[in-house]
Amino acid sequence: MTQRPTPQRTCVACRRVDDKRSFVRLVRDAEGDVHVDPSGKAPGRGASVCASIACFESAVTKNRFASALRASLGEEDVERLRHEFEDVLQTRGASAPGTGR
Ligand SMILES: [Zn+2]
Repeated sequence: MTQRPTPQRTCVACRRVDDKRSFVRLVRDAEGDVHVDPSGKAPGRGASVCASIACFESAVTKNRFASALRASLGEEDVERLRHEFEDVLQTRGASAPGTGR
């Protein structure tokens, strides 16, 4: 059996390098809107951040998403992205059995 190496990504907040599955991807679509991309496969310019709200907040504070995605993010965008990001974290957490709730 041949195992393909998993593509590596770098967190835009803390610069940690790991395989792409341990990150959450944000993507800027053709209209210039930024979304969280749970599949990691959406077309468009992407930015990866650790699956951690701390890195998300850090990236927001340092304006890393805006520069990585070449998009301008208003407060409402950040607020929406934070909800989407937390949803992804919950979904991933929920896939591990026996963690309650
Ligand atoms: Zn990070």
